[in-house]
Amino acid sequence: MTADDLLLQADDLEVTYRSRGRKTFRALNGVSFDIRPGETLGLVGESGSGKTTIGRAILGLAPVSNGTVTFQGEDITHLSSARRRSLATDLQVVFQDPYTSLNPSMTIADILAEPLTIQGWTRADAHARVRALLDRVQLPADAGNRLPREFSGGQRQRVAIARAIALNPKLIVCDEPVSALDLTTQARVLDLLIEIQQDTGVSLLFVSHDLAVVRHISHRVVVLYRGGIVEQGEVDQITAHPAHAYTKRLFMSAPVANVAEQRLRRERLHDLAKIGDE
Ligand code: ADP
Ligand code: MG
Repeated sequence: MTADDLLLQADDLEVTYRSRGRKTFRALNGVSFDIRPGETLGLVGESGSGKTTIGRAILGLAPVSNGTVTFQGEDITHLSSARRRSLATDLQVVFQDPYTSLNPSMTIADILAEPLTIQGWTRADAHARVRALLDRVQLPADAGNRLPREFSGGQRQRVAIARAIALNPKLIVCDEPVSALDLTTQARVLDLLIEIQQDTGVSLLFVSHDLAVVRHISHRVVVLYRGGIVEQGEVDQITAHPAHAYTKRLFMSAPVANVAEQRLRRERLHDLAKIGDE
């Protein structure tokens, strides 16, 4: 795979936060990784290791003090706000907290139609797309008439996912999207994301402090420690032979991976890549 085939490249990223008291804090240091079309890259590390900062740097929301983010061949590290807005058709985000990420005064249908109407869709086309999106995330058609507060955390995260995929993006940054949900709901939402990826070929940057979750959904994994990458590679490889003591510690607290499931997913990914080549 050449650089042209990569969807996103982070190269030597450095993020420095400056607080009011003139103190600076280097949250990321020399972070480099890439994301291929159709794959899920898991980003795992303990709390405070810089996972959210990486997602925010990709979205143009973190103070990048060095290095670059390249997306579909374009340097998007420091974009004008107009270009950043137009990037929203290809680059989307799902946040951790389903209770604050949806506007409480808008109906689900309006929440889902908003990105479409901004792009100039007609009311009729947007209406049809909203119905298809509700169906895609397995919510009832009448969910559109209701408000976010009428739904559970898992259902709200389905709405957030539907909004993120409304314009068929190439990449979704998912920052701890299941961390606020109970275990059964976590598994269902993860499986929904996997299904959507198989249908659409969307890439995911999947951020979580929970290695079991990352291992379930990811093809490759980046392990972050205090703002730097300690290792990255195929999920089976890192699971079987963690090189770094920190990774070993992270892994010891997580249950055993389903290796057969991972292999199946990788084969599907390769099939997707082949379709793209034709
Ligand atoms: P994670 O998502 O892995 O828990 P974060 O990316 O949120 O980690 O934070 C990484 C480090 O950067 C932490 O030490 C955090 O306190 C610090 N940090 C995050 N955001 C800011 C900010 N806006 N200003 C100053 N420091 C910040
Ligand atoms: Mg975080």
